[in-house]
Amino acid sequence: MSKFWSPIVHQLTPYVPGEQPKISNLIKLNTNENPYGPSPRALNAIEIEVGNSLRRYSDPTSERLINAIAQYYQLKPQQVFVGNGSDEVLAHTFQALFQHGMPLLFPDITYSFYPVYCKLYGIEGKIIPLNNNFEVDLGDYLRPNGGIIFPNPNAPTGHGVGLGVIERLLKHNTDSVIVIDEAYIDFGGESAVALIDEYPNLLVIQTFSKSRSLAGLRVGFAMGNPELIAGLVRVKDSFNSYPLDSIAISGAAAAMQDRTHFEYTRKRIIASREQLTAELEALGFDIIPSQANFLFVTHPQHDAVALAGHLRVRNIIVRYFNKPRIDQYLRITIGNDDECKKLVSALKEIINS
Ligand code: PMP
Repeated sequence: MSKFWSPIVHQLTPYVPGEQPKISNLIKLNTNENPYGPSPRALNAIEIEVGNSLRRYSDPTSERLINAIAQYYQLKPQQVFVGNGSDEVLAHTFQALFQHGMPLLFPDITYSFYPVYCKLYGIEGKIIPLNNNFEVDLGDYLRPNGGIIFPNPNAPTGHGVGLGVIERLLKHNTDSVIVIDEAYIDFGGESAVALIDEYPNLLVIQTFSKSRSLAGLRVGFAMGNPELIAGLVRVKDSFNSYPLDSIAISGAAAAMQDRTHFEYTRKRIIASREQLTAELEALGFDIIPSQANFLFVTHPQHDAVALAGHLRVRNIIVRYFNKPRIDQYLRITIGNDDECKKLVSALKEIINS
């Protein structure tokens, strides 16, 4: 607390990101990063960008990147918005597209940045509990609102909803914006991008941090009706003219164009997820079927905090959320083959000791 803070700063509850420890030899399965490196084409594009041209400002419209995304998804450039990580895109969305006076609807167990943005932008949030199977039940969202947001697949549960269910919600809810946060969509979900031409109030947000292995580059994007995109651009241009640097624009555009690397790495992660699910189930874990690059697991005989502690001494870190309903769960990112193997043998040792 400080007398120098503006009134709103006193009221904020900032988001706490997963740890990024500076220790080497760590098996880091706590922030859903991709175990495989970025596309070699992206790294090459980044290298080319590093030089004297950095004396110039980056392109305020990120045209190259917007065109690459539009081409990948067969959209018009006016249907695409980019920002400094999908966190920034989400923040602008909260400010630009959610109405005040009626609550924003989102799940109780979900990405914990949503309530943080609500406080920052003075939006009232109405929390809709997941059903008993830990699923987002869109039937519960048919009520007056100033906007709706949920991740698909959801985080940290990994459970996804199908396009049919989403379309039913869109048909019913036409007066406010529905945002689908598809941070993990490439690991097996069905993208709602296919619906944006038909529903002018649908905004789909994705990121380069997960399936394109560029979390450190900080690039996210939104796709929707040009009217929604224009609203986001107005906020962006009232905030920062150059949210993406030249390196990020070039690297992300090249990553989008490298379909081979993208397909190869995402399929490997999906295959490892299925194998890890079977191996952890054999150890007695209950696992929510995941369409993401992580598993949300609980063990009926072993306390989650204790398990995380035992893994930590073995240099393996996973994510624990000390929150109601999920305080006996751990979220484990899918690592590479070696990391998955070490995780399973560590858990075997812990459980059998
Ligand atoms: N949405 C969800 C559901 C996430 O889990 C994350 C990653 N923490 C983000 C958005 C933000 O990702 P980024 O800012 O790296 O694009």
